[in-house]
Amino acid sequence: MALIVQKYGGTSVADAERIRAVAERVVATAREGNQVAVVVSAMGGETDRLVDLAHELGGDEPDPREYDALLSTGEQKTTALLAMAIRRLGATARSFNGAQMGMRTDAAHTRARIESLDAGRIRAALDQGHIAVLAGFQGTDEDGNITTLGRGGSDTSAVAAAAALEADVCEIYTDVDGVFTTDPNVSSRARKLERVAYDEMLELASLGARVLQTRSVKFAKRYGVRLHVRSSFHGGEGTWVVPEEEVMERLVVSGVTYNTNEAKIRVRGVKDQPGVAAALFTPLSASAIVVDMIIQNVGQDGSTDLTFTVPRDDYARALGLAQDAASVIGAQAVEGDEAIAKVSIVGLGMKDHAGVATRMFQVLAEEGINIQLISTSEIKVSVVIEEKYTELAVRALHAAFVEAGATAPVEES
Ligand code: ASP
Ligand code: MG
Repeated sequence: MALIVQKYGGTSVADAERIRAVAERVVATAREGNQVAVVVSAMGGETDRLVDLAHELGGDEPDPREYDALLSTGEQKTTALLAMAIRRLGATARSFNGAQMGMRTDAAHTRARIESLDAGRIRAALDQGHIAVLAGFQGTDEDGNITTLGRGGSDTSAVAAAAALEADVCEIYTDVDGVFTTDPNVSSRARKLERVAYDEMLELASLGARVLQTRSVKFAKRYGVRLHVRSSFHGGEGTWVVPEEEVMERLVVSGVTYNTNEAKIRVRGVKDQPGVAAALFTPLSASAIVVDMIIQNVGQDGSTDLTFTVPRDDYARALGLAQDAASVIGAQAVEGDEAIAKVSIVGLGMKDHAGVATRMFQVLAEEGINIQLISTSEIKVSVVIEEKYTELAVRALHAAFVEAGATAPVEES
């Protein structure tokens, strides 16, 4: 008998009819002889509605404790409704909210981190033959206050449940067929990947492939939880996210991603001396602005340029802080640009191949696309380009690497 954790996102439980369809799938899985724990999100659009209400009545910064108390109700509604629907099909089910399922977090409201999951009650329910229906996205802190895990947090709840229950698999049901080589809305040639390694998925997730919350992938990697990302609308295989050893086909490039939610700030003519970068970036990190890429040019005549990217939502604040810091450190000018895109290629096989970045630059050059910034890691190359060329760049890179096959364009090292 296998123990399966299934997680259903908001679109999969958006209305009564879909909840009934989920119940059918859950019951079918149980009737195949498996123990099943199901983690659910709030019904599609519900969390957004609750957020709007919170602001309407609580102002710009609603009380964080009450905000979490409110948002957690979205998932609780779904658990109760799904448990009822399962019972109607002749199986038995029990719903659990965050506290009932033993999910303990720290006290950081709206972005709490999981500290422990005491799965005793879930396990007891499973052993009594019930299907356990668990509320995603929530827990309680050590004083019993309700907390939430940040938007998209139900993925992380599901992985935590799978780890605590030592489940055989954590199935993530969603409104897409799996993890794709690029955004199918941008390239009709995008194809579904059969398997990706945790590290590849982490790059794909954090670079903009919106299928899984990044934290959930880190968690899965740490505890060796095998994930299966698949469609809730049909029974076809999706994409497995597994340890690196289990990925047979080491693609040089398994995904081309893009992110148009960043902005670029350039500080010109800063003195090339110790302390300058610290003076510039300390105020940004003190304001919890997450800087992504940082490029410093080679100094000339004692001065240099520093360019970095920040989330576009934080752009105005970051620009202000950079201007303040620039006048303190005596920089010449601060310039900003919001109309940028970061385009990346990701693949485990890059570890074994040379020339991948060069090939990427050639492909972009052939399209006449200018590269503004470059950064690389072991399994990723990212470039910043003008935003209006995003789709062109993605399509060209997908054609050159993914459609051309794994190793064709690059030289064996
Ligand atoms: N309902 C929450 C959200 O919309 C959590 C989740 O769905 O994962 O962000
Ligand atoms: Mg989600």
